[in-house]
Amino acid sequence: MANQNVIKGNEIVGAAVVKALQRRGFGAEYVPTREDALRRILEIVPENASVGIPGTVTVREIGALDALKARGNTIYQHWGQMTPQERRIARDRENSADVFLTSANAITRDGRIINIDGTGNRVAGMAWGGENNGLVLFVAGLNKLAFGLEDGLERARSATIPNAIRQNEPTACTKAGHCVNCLDEYSMCRAILILEQAVKGRNYHVILVGETLGY
Ligand code: SF4
Repeated sequence: MANQNVIKGNEIVGAAVVKALQRRGFGAEYVPTREDALRRILEIVPENASVGIPGTVTVREIGALDALKARGNTIYQHWGQMTPQERRIARDRENSADVFLTSANAITRDGRIINIDGTGNRVAGMAWGGENNGLVLFVAGLNKLAFGLEDGLERARSATIPNAIRQNEPTACTKAGHCVNCLDEYSMCRAILILEQAVKGRNYHVILVGETLGY
């Protein structure tokens, strides 16, 4: 069972980041556990909405994909074995679904959301997803918090090693053990999106979770 002081501390940190996100136009809330996050996702996502889920470990880890699918939401995703053509079509569908459900690589304490992408589909969905005034919904554990932009970018790049292992990509950082700012064919850090504020015409909501989720 988690220490009560840690629980209380997480609540204080979570509340401060929620306030910072709201100041920048993002809907935001803090929940203590992954079970709470799952419950909130099921409340927030309409039952008849299509949901695009890009490459996110957090969303899958908390069981949101399976739970949404089980209750009848149409899910678009590119995960597992697919042909390049199937993958391309799935990515387009994710980005034009009613709800774009994802995690973040880093969230700064002053409310900026930072993501790094190799193919660009995920950062495109974060800026332009959630069709027809739909919703871009972020779920992130407190392990994604960063102090400022520089720390956030570093944090985002640090997620590349486990992501590269998951996708079997021989990136330079998996060999060096840290980012070497590679520019080679295996680079997974080709596009960086810093959401300074809620993008005009998009509807954002961030669920911050008082646990370590994803990477
Ligand atoms: S070494 Fe390359 S792939 Fe790895 S984190 Fe740095 S820029 Fe990204």
